Amino acid sequence: MTGPAEHGPGGASPHDERSLREIALLGDAVLDEMRFINHFRGLGVPDDALESLAEAVTSRIDYAFAVTWSPDWVPSGRPHTWRDEVGWHARCTECLAESAAVGGEDGALAWFDDHAGRKHSQS
Ligand SMILES: [Zn+2]
Repeated sequence: MTGPAEHGPGGASPHDERSLREIALLGDAVLDEMRFINHFRGLGVPDDALESLAEAVTSRIDYAFAVTWSPDWVPSGRPHTWRDEVGWHARCTECLAESAAVGGEDGALAWFDDHAGRKHSQS
């Protein structure tokens, strides 16, 4: 676990575990979008340059803006599920934990149901 001291130039607002995760998700989203546009428009920017740019943009946003992961396409109380080259994944919207890759969306949803039952069953 890394401390908040090495994260961001200001240090004015302490980063808890969730906000660190939100910044990491923002960084991944910025890099994904840069890679997509780089490919779609044939810009030819090397991937290490995209990574540097995404890191710089993310740090600048983190420096002065409050970042909250709150996708409006995820129904309340349900996880975000998606598929990539290694399989299906689920992300808990409450604590932002993620499943390992599984073979199908049903498996990702089963992970979430088990996770939510163990971690968030205070209702
Ligand atoms: Zn959770």
